[in-house]
Amino acid sequence: MMKKSPSTELIHHPYQPPAGFKGLQEGVFKASTVLFPNVAAMRSYEWKDKSAFTYGLHGTPTTYTLEERLCTLEGGSQCLLVPSGLAAIALVSLSLLRAGDEVLIPDNVYGNSKSLADGELKQWGISHRCYDPMDPQDLAAKLSENTRLVWLEAPGSVSLEFPNLCELVRVCQARNVWTALDNTWGSGIAFSAFDLLPGSSPALGADISVHALTKYPCGSGDVLMGSVTTRDAGLHMRLKLTHMRLGFNVGANDAEAILRALPSIYLRYQAHDVAARALAAWCETRPEFVQVLHPALPSSPGHAHWAEICTSGSGGAAGLFTVVIAPHVTQAQVDQFCDALQHFKIGWSWGGHLSLVVPYDLASMRTAWPLHIKRGILVRFWVGLESVADLQADLSQALIHLH
Ligand SMILES: *Cc1c(COP(=O)(O)O)cnc(C)c1O
Repeated sequence: MMKKSPSTELIHHPYQPPAGFKGLQEGVFKASTVLFPNVAAMRSYEWKDKSAFTYGLHGTPTTYTLEERLCTLEGGSQCLLVPSGLAAIALVSLSLLRAGDEVLIPDNVYGNSKSLADGELKQWGISHRCYDPMDPQDLAAKLSENTRLVWLEAPGSVSLEFPNLCELVRVCQARNVWTALDNTWGSGIAFSAFDLLPGSSPALGADISVHALTKYPCGSGDVLMGSVTTRDAGLHMRLKLTHMRLGFNVGANDAEAILRALPSIYLRYQAHDVAARALAAWCETRPEFVQVLHPALPSSPGHAHWAEICTSGSGGAAGLFTVVIAPHVTQAQVDQFCDALQHFKIGWSWGGHLSLVVPYDLASMRTAWPLHIKRGILVRFWVGLESVADLQADLSQALIHLH
């Protein structure tokens, strides 16, 4: 063997660690370049199937493993990872829609989904209309020859009303229109995106489930990632080709962080749920709040629809709830109330151990004020993993600012 200089040997080092290492967690495989044993292998490996590795963008052991586990969580067959929840929404719309198509969006959708429709989609000749998520007939009336995709979300972002998801899906299936569900709230735990009424045959469900892994799967507010899960191989391949051409990649350390948090997701989901229900029920007793929105509260809009698909499984209702502040209270007072909270911190997003609060101006987010929501400023709480008693005491001490 030729004597090599140390600089070469550092790069082409002969040492191989013993095979067979197994820890509790998967390894972090980081790569742009993936090495092939020879040119024939390079020519023959197919990037689209997951039997081999060809380039970091197309997958590594770390990302394949996360994709498979997310399929299990969501009850899907194929999964794609993207850099954020919003990127997951963008991937679906950019992959499935062409100039001249129309996409229908629920009026209570995650806000940036509307921004994408108003921005790039419109610019590229794709139109959109908002439908009333609480009225399947409104959706049916708005479906047209050009409608190719319908977005679903249950419950709505911020206002948390729960739609008749089964009926919305039936309306779309009858017209052969693709449905994509933003399943971030349910997380694959509260209900199954692909099988809303388990046991019904054929299965009633969305074609695509999009998930902001940023929220529950991450669980600590420090990773942005999204997923796009399907049951249909043809639909998956269409999305996968767009995913490749757009160059959507996720970092291996981030994928590993999600893999690390997934084993505790059921426990965390339940803990957030129990705590949020307790606090939401307490808020209902307070005169400062004219309405409390949380799907498990019998008074919350769409509670019966929540019960239809969520109580058969985990019974999940998640860790978010929103209050409507009495209409005579000013925005300045509401801001003071939020500022006065000690445990609930001010910040976007949710899903981590720390409780959060955000005031919302619903009028600016909707095409019309929904009849089922009382007038007033909305304040959304994310209930973290602090003690419920401490969180209740915190809310209680801040209420003085609403008087
Ligand atoms: C947070 C969220 C998103 C966006 O996720 P990011 O990772 O922050 O881009 C999309 N949909 C819903 C319902 C969300 O709550």
